[in-house]
Amino acid sequence: MSKMILPSKVTICEVAPRDGFQAEKEWIPTEEKIKIVRSLANTGVQSMEITSFVHPKAIPQLRDAAEVVQGVQDLTNIKFRALVPNVKGAERAIDAGITKLKLMLSATDSHSLSNANRLVEDAQNGFAPIIELAEKSNVTVGGSISVAFGCPYEGKVSVERLSSIVDRYNQMGVSEVSLADTTGMANPKQVYDYLGELTEAFPNIAFSMHLHNTRGMALANAVAALQRGVTLFDSSIAGLGGCPYAPGASGNIATEDLVHAFEEMGVDTGMDVDRLIDVAKEMKEYLGHDGGSHLLQAGPCSALSPKPKGQEKVEA
Ligand code: ZN
Repeated sequence: MSKMILPSKVTICEVAPRDGFQAEKEWIPTEEKIKIVRSLANTGVQSMEITSFVHPKAIPQLRDAAEVVQGVQDLTNIKFRALVPNVKGAERAIDAGITKLKLMLSATDSHSLSNANRLVEDAQNGFAPIIELAEKSNVTVGGSISVAFGCPYEGKVSVERLSSIVDRYNQMGVSEVSLADTTGMANPKQVYDYLGELTEAFPNIAFSMHLHNTRGMALANAVAALQRGVTLFDSSIAGLGGCPYAPGASGNIATEDLVHAFEEMGVDTGMDVDRLIDVAKEMKEYLGHDGGSHLLQAGPCSALSPKPKGQEKVEA
């Protein structure tokens, strides 16, 4: 009888400081942001998406990007990356001390226009100077594709479409590409099938998964990706990170849920579930809500309940 074959070890990137915070309407003071990043840094996490260097007017919540990055420069055991929409953002990020940039585009023109006011091809044409700047500055670059599996305006994205976008990244020398299920439209079979084609066509590309739990499929999608050998995952503490198209919907897959599930399956994340739950609780208390965390509700499997008293079999 054959057993499920999974990678023995994965790397999880905590994205709450970017994806989670940008969804919050109430201003989070810079010192509080730094404090949260520091709490997260104690969970064993090795990689964090700390902010986005977008125009301050586009996302006012992240207008203190540089100060936040500068405030955690001593945390040298964590690889901090930042999202950059253009060269200006890349310059600001590098000046602030960021050593990994993440490029962003959408899989469809409709989403690209509504999200970034540009066509997908225009976004791609804007990458060359960012990559050039990164190379000059000795900074690494990863790519990302929003609405990679489904677009709220155009529906299912074909694997051919996805493949052509990955190909363009590949030609530009980008060797890590994040597939983002931004609005939670992917399903596990689609993830498994698409990754089968993509990993075969692009053996030199490391794919990472950014899964929102909008429709409750994120963990199943993560396992489908794991079965295809993917070892890079994004997640957000307490499930923070909204969906602009469905207010009130679940956000990203919660870091504590993902780490717990992987560890239960024997996949090493290097992270500590109990500490994650503590930070998730702090976040929920501070913000007044979570983004849909199962462990905050139920606790980990390891927290056993006392057996009910008088459990002897009762004679009929
Ligand atoms: Zn996201």
